[in-house]
This record gives sequence, C-alpha cells and structure tokens, in this order.
Amino acid sequence: MSSSRCTPELLAERQVDLTAIRRDIHRHPETAFEEQRTAQIVADKLTSWGIEIHRGLGKTGVVGTLKGKRPGQKTIGLRADMDALHLQEKNDFDYASVHENKMHACGHDGHTTMLLGAAQHLAEVRDFAGTVHFIFQPAEEGLGGARVMIEEGLFDKFNCDAVYGMHNMPGLPVGHFAIRPGVLTASSDTWQTRFKGTGGHGAMPYRGTDPTLPAAQFITAVQGIIGRNVSPQQAAVLSVGHIAAGTAGSPNVIPSEVLIRGTARSYSPAVRDLLQRRLAELAKGIALAEGCEAESEYLRRYPPLVNAAEQTNIAVEAAAMTVGRDNVNPNVPPTTGAEDFAFMLEKKPGAYILIGNGGTEEGGCHNVHSPLYDFNDRILTTGAAYWVNLVQLELGSA
Ligand SMILES: [Zn+2]
Ligand SMILES: [Zn+2]
Repeated sequence: MSSSRCTPELLAERQVDLTAIRRDIHRHPETAFEEQRTAQIVADKLTSWGIEIHRGLGKTGVVGTLKGKRPGQKTIGLRADMDALHLQEKNDFDYASVHENKMHACGHDGHTTMLLGAAQHLAEVRDFAGTVHFIFQPAEEGLGGARVMIEEGLFDKFNCDAVYGMHNMPGLPVGHFAIRPGVLTASSDTWQTRFKGTGGHGAMPYRGTDPTLPAAQFITAVQGIIGRNVSPQQAAVLSVGHIAAGTAGSPNVIPSEVLIRGTARSYSPAVRDLLQRRLAELAKGIALAEGCEAESEYLRRYPPLVNAAEQTNIAVEAAAMTVGRDNVNPNVPPTTGAEDFAFMLEKKPGAYILIGNGGTEEGGCHNVHSPLYDFNDRILTTGAAYWVNLVQLELGSA
C-alpha cells in the first residue's frame, strides 16, 4: 500500500494550476442552484481528462464517473460543494468577488478545486479496481442541494457503496485533519412563532389583547428549554434571529401580531423532537396566559451528520497517509454547524472529514462566513492527495 501513497509533495506540480482554478471560481461566486459557470468549468475539466460526465441533477450538479483500469464492482462517491454565499466580500486581493453581495466565504471554491485535482490525478493513473463518482453538488448553503440531487435520482443513477465529503476548517493548522465517528455536525432547523392578539391604541391597552407581552416572555422562556428540558448529557441551541411587529412610524399602535423566527440545533433525533415539541408548548401556554394565540411552525432543514464507524476509520487512514498519523485527530468534538452532506449519509454509509485551513499566520484563518474569509491555497494539494489516498484504500487492493 505504501508504494501508492499520495502526498501533497507528490502533487506539488499541480499547485499552480489548482490555485488558478480556485481563484477563478472565487472571483466568480455563484449562489444556490445558479452555479452555471462553476459547473461548466467542472464539466469542461473532467471531460478534458477523459472522465464521463452527467449534468443537471439539482439543476447545476455535475457527476463525473471514472472506472479504474482493473476490474472491480465496488463504487464510491466523493462529493464537493460548489455554491457561494450571499455576502459582500471585504477582501481586496485581485481575485476578490466581482459580484455584488456574493462571495465564496465558506471555501466551496477550494472544495471544488481539491476534488478536481484528485480527479485529474486519478484519471491519469487509474490504478484502482472499481468506480469513482465525483459528485459536484449545488446549494449546500441553506437550500439542501444534496437532498435535491438525491430526490432527482443521484444514487439510482450512480450507485455508491460509500460516500465521502470534506470541509475546510479555519483554525485547524495546515496539514491537519480532524474527524469523529458518529455525529459530527448538528441538525439545523428553522422555527417560527406568530403571537396574535387584537392590538389597538397604545394609550388604551386594556381594551384589547397585546401580543408583544407573550412574545417578550417567550423569547426569554425559550432558553429554559435548553436549561430545563434538554438533558445535561445532551446539547442543543435555540437562537432568535428575527422579530417583526408593528411599523416604525406608529409607536403608539399596539400591533396585532408579533412574528419571531429562529434556528434550532441538536445532535440527535430525540433532542430535535423535544425542541420542536417544547417550542410549540411554550408558545401556546404563554399566549394563553396573556389572552392571545400562538401559531408555531417548525421546518426541518438539515439532519445531524452521522459518520459511519467503518468509513471513518478509512478516512482516518487516508488522512494519515496524506499528512502523517500525528496530524490527524480521529475524535474531534462535534460542532453546532450544519452540513447538507448529512442527507447523503442518511442514504449511504460514509464519512465527512475536516481539513485544516490554517490560522491567520498561515494565510487564512478568518472563520467561514466572514467577509474576510479566504480558502487557503496551500491546502489544495493536501485535500487532493487525501482523496487519492481514499480511493486507494477503498478500491486500490481489489
Ligand atoms: Zn457555509
Ligand atoms: Zn461550507
């Protein structure tokens, strides 16, 4: 196995090309389901390397299929996300976004490029048995492009015995990986509660019912769900992100409705159910106490991301082959961030790994979703080598 080990150094000659691709995508960010230009770059590159492509799953999704030169039945899927965020970039380097209020602030430009780098290398050597599907997906940020690709037949068209994903991690040093078996990222749901009363004249509140009262009580009571209902062995987050009522020009009018919207995060289906139930119960009870009504909605967006034990071990080995075992954390704590690769892991066993994007002294630490974030080009070959090693471990010895 060690003879076919891939390292960032072995891919060093691709650094200039990969950096150019990454910066080109960074300059031209495209948001959910609009990744036309990015998908074209991906499709053109894969085709030029002799990789068969399929387009259009999830509108802009691209799947490249590469068979090894040795016979084998096993197939694996390697996934990268292509979309950018609605955010005004504040970086002033020459490849900063040319599009107003759109930015690659989560490093998906780098993810796409790392998988392209691996695809190019694997297409040249093809020293494996079986099939690799390179899955380039749209709309990871918020709109569940992975779920849409699955609904449109991703795994019917492209069977995968296992699927793998990767995300950069600012603050984790360059040349490091981190992963854990079991849950790695939280579920991410959106909830809202609408408190309804009669409203009325601000000078005569006794003539009606005032939904701002239960709304105010509800906002503070919500944190009691975390403190009193969720077990201390579990974890969850509830945050209010939006409050709307009345009009700024009419401070003497008691509004008849108050809308409160927020996010909910958890690491298990049971806690997720609990949050949904308690938000509705609290809203209803508090509204009743104030003579108002409450309408609650809970929208399930992304499930918790759960790494399978077997594939996590393979990912750890692939990372160790890439950067050395001392630089791989096999048991990183879970994060409260969310990731739509979780939908793929609901369907297929697999593993999702974090790759160090470095600290500020290494050229790229601002956290993801910051207007000053940038993917660190120094890790392009590291990520590509990881993918190559993963294919070697999964399909190399058959
Ligand atoms: Zn993101
Ligand atoms: Zn991301």
